[in-house]
Amino acid sequence: MNVFDLDKQYVMPTYARLPVEFVSGSGAELVDSTGKKYIDFSSGIAVNIFGASDKNWMKSVIDQIGRVAHTSNYYYTQPCAKLAELLCEKTGYSQVFFSNSGAEANECAIKAARKYASAIDLKKCNIVTLVGSFHGRTITTLSATGQESMHVHFAPFTEGFRYAVANDEKSLEYLCDDTCAAIMLEIIQGEGGINELSDSFLEKVMELSQKYNMLVIADEIQTGMGRTGTFTAFEKTPLKPDIFTLAKALGGGLPIGATVFSKKLRNILSVGTHGSTFGGNPVCAAGAISIVERIDCEFLSEVNKKSELLKNELLSIPSINSVHGRGLMLGIDVAKPAREIMEKCLENGLLVLTAKERIRLLPPLNISNEQIRSGVKILKEVLEY
Ligand SMILES: *Cc1c(COP(=O)(O)O)cnc(C)c1O
Repeated sequence: MNVFDLDKQYVMPTYARLPVEFVSGSGAELVDSTGKKYIDFSSGIAVNIFGASDKNWMKSVIDQIGRVAHTSNYYYTQPCAKLAELLCEKTGYSQVFFSNSGAEANECAIKAARKYASAIDLKKCNIVTLVGSFHGRTITTLSATGQESMHVHFAPFTEGFRYAVANDEKSLEYLCDDTCAAIMLEIIQGEGGINELSDSFLEKVMELSQKYNMLVIADEIQTGMGRTGTFTAFEKTPLKPDIFTLAKALGGGLPIGATVFSKKLRNILSVGTHGSTFGGNPVCAAGAISIVERIDCEFLSEVNKKSELLKNELLSIPSINSVHGRGLMLGIDVAKPAREIMEKCLENGLLVLTAKERIRLLPPLNISNEQIRSGVKILKEVLEY
C-alpha cells in the first residue's frame, strides 16, 4: 500500500490531510516524494523557525542522543537545567516547568494558577479566557478554549472557565470578580483567525488582574520564540504576565512544552504536585537550547525586516486590502473558502495554512527575501485564478 492508503487504513482520521508526502527539505524549501519542490509559508504550524534540516539543531540533537537520550526526572541532566536558565535569562522570568506539548504547558499553567489562588480562597478557582481562543486538546484545555464548536462530544468538561469577548473591555469587566484565579489569553489568536488584542484591552486585563488579584497567563505557544518579531509577543504590549507558555517552535521539531513563571510564583509547584515522564527530556532540551540561543537582537531585527517585505508584497496583490498580525505571523482575508486557496497553493508549490476564514502565513523565520517574493507570486496567481 502507498502511504495515503496505509494512513487511511491504520491512522485515526482526525486530520483533513492534503495529498502530499514530504521526504526532505532545506530551510524554507520542502521536497515531496515525486521530487516536486515547495516554498514553505507554514513551518509545520509555527514549529520550524529555522526551516527544514537545520544543521545547528541537528548537531545538538544527534550529539545528545549519542550521550544519553532519556533518564527520567529522578535524575539531573545538563540540557534541561541549561535550557531553563537560558529561557529565564532571555525573559527575566524565574523558573520553568517542562512538558511535551502546548496543551500540557497550558495544563500546568492552569494547575499552578489554581494552586496559587486556592491558598487565598478555595472559591477562587475560575479562569477567564477569550472567545475564539485556542489552548489545546485535552479536556481541560478544551474547556479553556473559547470556541463553542469544540465543546461537543466530550462532556462533562472541566468546570470553571468563562469566555470574554476579545477586545471587548465591557465583556471582560463583566466576567472578572474575586472568584477568578486567572485570566489566560493569546496576544494574537492563532487558530482563532490571527486576531490581535489591542493595547487598551491588555491594559484593562492588567487593571482587572490587580483589582481582583487574578494571575495573568499568556499563551505564547504560537506567538512566542521570535514569531512576532520579539522573543515573546507580550514584550511590546502593556501585558505583564505572571506565567507564559511556550511549545511549538521551542523544540525545533521535537516535542517540548515550557511553562515559565515569574518571581511571584517561585516554587508554586512542589514535589508531587506535578510531573512528566518525558518533560525536559535531554534530547528535546539540547535541541531547544540550539534554537533559543540563536533568537537574539540581530536575528529579531532580520525577522522584522522580512515581515515588512512580506507585508508589502502581500499588499501589492490587488485583492488584499489589509494584512493582520505581526512579525511573521500574518493573516489575510480571502473571497473564496480558505481551504480551497490552501489546496490551490499546494498544487502550485506553496504551503500556506488556514485560520478560520483567513489564510494564515507562518514562514520559517530565516526564509530568504527571494523565497518570500516567489511565495507571494504563487499566492497572487492563486488568488487571481
Ligand atoms: C498549538 C497551540 C496549542 C496546543 O499545542 P499542542 O502542542 O498541539 O498541544 C495551544 N495554544 C496555542 C496558542 C497554540 O497555537
